[in-house]
Amino acid sequence: MLAVRPVSSEPCAACADKDCVRAANRSNPDARSCPSLLNPRRLNRNSDCLVCGQCIKICPPGNMGLFLRRPFHPADVREPLASWPVTLFVMLVSGFVVSELCSEWKSAQAWFLRAPEEAAAWLGAASYAGWIEGVWTLFVVPLAIWVILGRMVVLARGASDLADAWRRLAIPLAVLFAFGHLCKGLAKFVSWIGFLPLAAQDPAGIDTARALVARTLIPPKSVLPMTAVCVLSLALLLLGTYFTLRELRLAQGTTHRRFCLPTLVLAASFLFIVFGWAFLA
Ligand code: SF4
Ligand code: SF4
Repeated sequence: MLAVRPVSSEPCAACADKDCVRAANRSNPDARSCPSLLNPRRLNRNSDCLVCGQCIKICPPGNMGLFLRRPFHPADVREPLASWPVTLFVMLVSGFVVSELCSEWKSAQAWFLRAPEEAAAWLGAASYAGWIEGVWTLFVVPLAIWVILGRMVVLARGASDLADAWRRLAIPLAVLFAFGHLCKGLAKFVSWIGFLPLAAQDPAGIDTARALVARTLIPPKSVLPMTAVCVLSLALLLLGTYFTLRELRLAQGTTHRRFCLPTLVLAASFLFIVFGWAFLA
């Protein structure tokens, strides 16, 4: 929602020195030309801007500004194909988010962890169970998810092959994964915020931890019942699904409908897991 942009194009057209891009300003101790080698006056997306503010400081007419805008601003240019580092990062994160969502519902967590636990037992590698679980969460599960989603896109002729499908899905689906992570963040926040007064009283935390272990201190209760967290999270996921579909439309143009089914399948899976937090647990 935060974006560095020029206020108007007129001062830039009249600007003789173009200090925001001058190589001579690159090593100034402060007020440098863009360290990311962008052209600040032509910024139309947030993808590579560090929001470092150097272009705001060096612009003589003060034409560059930091703006608070509505989420997913439609004026920004969308990239139909994500770069490979971004794609692989989103794939990696997807496994983590699924694992986090499952961890709030015992049955889902048991189901998620059954395969790595059985693999560790079968290999006789109980001491490596954590590593096996990590590989499962960050590599095996994401690969399975993305093969299924990517195949759906290829079958709908939205992409030429699996790799192409993954790169087209990556940025829009990052929105849904972010909303999924937000749901988990909400669940953690409401259950941990009660510890804040204890943390203020005992910043080192050792006495509090001892008292909790000795049960002379009752752990603070969650500030919201799980039913409320669940309903709020379901609402967040529906909002995330809407924005994901919108990002697909803005990035993929006329072919965006070919990406709807995998998005809805993923969203439905997240909704089911979150529904289980309170209503199936
Ligand atoms: S952003 Fe500022 S420094 Fe850069 S071209 Fe425009 S007016 Fe000149
Ligand atoms: S905020 Fe920093 S990274 Fe972004 S355009 Fe300005 S100078 Fe470049």
